[in-house]
Amino acid sequence: MNTTFIPKQEASIISGTTAARFWQATLHRDRRADGTFVFAVRSTQIYCRPSCPARRPLRSNAIFFRSPEDAEHRGFRACRRCRPKELQSAAALVARAAALLANSDEENVRLESIAAQIKASPEKLRRAFRTMTGLSPRDFAEAARMNRFKKMLRDGRSITEALYACGFGSPSRIYEKTNSQLGMTPAAYKKGAPGMFIEYSITRSSLGHVLVAATDRGISAIYLGENDKQLITELRAEYPKAELSANSTGHGPWVREVLKRIEGDRPSVDLPLDVQATAFQRRVWQELQKIPLGSTRTYTQVAHALGKPNSVRAVARACATNPVSIVVPCHRVIRSDGQLAGYRWGLKRKQQLLEREGSQLNFS
Ligand SMILES: [Zn+2]
Repeated sequence: MNTTFIPKQEASIISGTTAARFWQATLHRDRRADGTFVFAVRSTQIYCRPSCPARRPLRSNAIFFRSPEDAEHRGFRACRRCRPKELQSAAALVARAAALLANSDEENVRLESIAAQIKASPEKLRRAFRTMTGLSPRDFAEAARMNRFKKMLRDGRSITEALYACGFGSPSRIYEKTNSQLGMTPAAYKKGAPGMFIEYSITRSSLGHVLVAATDRGISAIYLGENDKQLITELRAEYPKAELSANSTGHGPWVREVLKRIEGDRPSVDLPLDVQATAFQRRVWQELQKIPLGSTRTYTQVAHALGKPNSVRAVARACATNPVSIVVPCHRVIRSDGQLAGYRWGLKRKQQLLEREGSQLNFS
């Protein structure tokens, strides 16, 4: 037998712009990045998933791997707090099952058959779905099918065609579901072609009325204003095609956190964001989130921090168009001469926010 010695392949450390992107996701404890990479800490020899609640290491101490296996190959141990390995396997299971479910047009996909195809027990698959998506496999499959149905309508296919293509046995089946899942009849949906569902809550704060709006992925808007009507009008202008509806209970913890931050308190829970942005806006907003409570930066300083010293005006524009005030603290950016410059929700509010946060500013 011909034996060739094959050296065990070295696990590759991620570098360059990918590492920079992973670091941003790590800093923001971005749940959406979980399962796509792990970060390891040289000083502790431990690796974590991106959303691990533990303290962040120095950038110089962090290295990134595509998988837990790669990190372990380099001698790192899994964090006991965020258990990156379990998550990885749950993510992989769900990804494989989701691919099968997405291609299945049957109305009643059997969990057992999906589980058998990916060689997992139905119970394990059910748990993985709960962990990763918060849904049962059946609800997930139903949502996936409904999404395909909606996409076909948006693409201009007829209702009947879309119904049968997506395996809804009869038109009555889809009309039964429309109230809970489509929010309107398929015909109305086809006409308006909206893409987003946004729920909002409005509460009182010491800075006036606060609107917190969110999709099922995170917060999309935080506005401050004088009255409900003005805030809803702003939201409608920002998301003209979205379906907006009032949320009475579900946002409680997020709203409470926003109210605390308005009072100048330290962040106590992470608030997931779901905002539409250009790559540049997103970079600016991430940079703003690094400005510590009680500090300010100038537009020029932010531009320099981004490595784009000539983009001061673009930075100012990105601040002015920030849809999630408070959480992305654009109020902490001021002019080089110490003037507060503008604020979408009024200079008085900007000044009050900075005073509460204890910035050492001369407000005269
Ligand atoms: Zn961890």
